[in-house]
Amino acid sequence: VPGHASALVLAGFRDVPDFPEPGVVFKDITPLLADPVAFGAVTAVLADLAAATGADAVAGIEARGFMLAAPAAERAGAGFWPVRKAGKLPPPVLRRDYDLEYGSASLELAASAVRPGARVLVVDDVLATGGTARAACELLEEGGAEVVGLVVLLELAFLSGRARLGDRPVVALHVQD
Ligand code: AMP
Repeated sequence: VPGHASALVLAGFRDVPDFPEPGVVFKDITPLLADPVAFGAVTAVLADLAAATGADAVAGIEARGFMLAAPAAERAGAGFWPVRKAGKLPPPVLRRDYDLEYGSASLELAASAVRPGARVLVVDDVLATGGTARAACELLEEGGAEVVGLVVLLELAFLSGRARLGDRPVVALHVQD
């Protein structure tokens, strides 16, 4: 990952204290997306990683992962696979339920999108506890794809999300300790 990517992420994220609930600092990606230079540079880094890992597809996790994965996939000449929140996709779907810090959530993947044996790079904006990314990887693997890695713009290292990804390679453009 080129050094400027970390600076772009640091400059492009906005901290929003106490959102969506007290005590949480929400990392808002909106300024980065709105800046064509930063958005283009981050997209280029993601596309380079997709090419370097020989990815056939780039999977984005709804919703902010979509905004990053789709342009990177197109640029890398790979397919785009949306990993969606439960209840949005028509059947048949693969589904994974997972625990959040408070409560639970579910992700789904269109069964028709997954090609067994395909190499897929997973993209999201923020890696926090790792539950979301892990569920996405497990869904893709259940469909027979090979997860070649996870890329996030920002890793919140104090939440140890990386530990929940097992042996899967994890790349963060910027790490906050
Ligand atoms: P987790 O499953 O705890 O790793 O949470 C990661 C998912 O929740 C990602 O899809 C992020 O978009 C979102 N997320 C978690 N924490 C934050 C945060 N502090 N700011 C922005 N998004 C977050």
